[in-house]
Amino acid sequence: MERILVSACLMGRKVRYDGGAKTSGDALLAAWRHEGRLIPFCPEVEGGLPVPRPAAEIEGGAGGAAVLTGAARVLAADGSDVTPAFLAGAQAALAVARSFDIKIAILKQGSPSCGSLTIYDGTFRGRRMPGQGVTTALLESYGIAVFDEDHVAEAGARLRELTESAEPGELVKPAGVMDPGDR
Ligand code: SF4
Repeated sequence: MERILVSACLMGRKVRYDGGAKTSGDALLAAWRHEGRLIPFCPEVEGGLPVPRPAAEIEGGAGGAAVLTGAARVLAADGSDVTPAFLAGAQAALAVARSFDIKIAILKQGSPSCGSLTIYDGTFRGRRMPGQGVTTALLESYGIAVFDEDHVAEAGARLRELTESAEPGELVKPAGVMDPGDR
């Protein structure tokens, strides 16, 4: 079965910086959960950060790729440098994904770890800008397709493509060749 990595907070786990969850009510996610297809994971907790914890943003809104190369840090609202925990969490997410041969992830939008389309701009003023979180940038660099909680249907389409390409192709009957039952 193709497994899907999913942000633990979307699955109702209270792992967010504020001690809460962001439980998704998506029916497809619920069906996949029932199938045992989902692997819930929180990079920040697995990277060693506590719950609750100060909010964190990537300085300058530089994006996860810049953090991975050492060009930007992840700073907490109290000014502390939490970059090592974010890097450790991203590596842990990648390790789990590779252990299950995962090709699809559904991660919470806007997070400095899990964001795929937007992140906060580093000023702690609630302003979003285009960009990716650290875990998303690492997973995508390894070819894992990352979707957010508002694009679960698109993740489903990707899953269908993967499932269909893994099935043996149907034999195509050459033109003019009749099946025994056709006679
Ligand atoms: S790091 Fe990801 S999984 Fe963990 S609380 Fe933040 S958005 Fe959710």
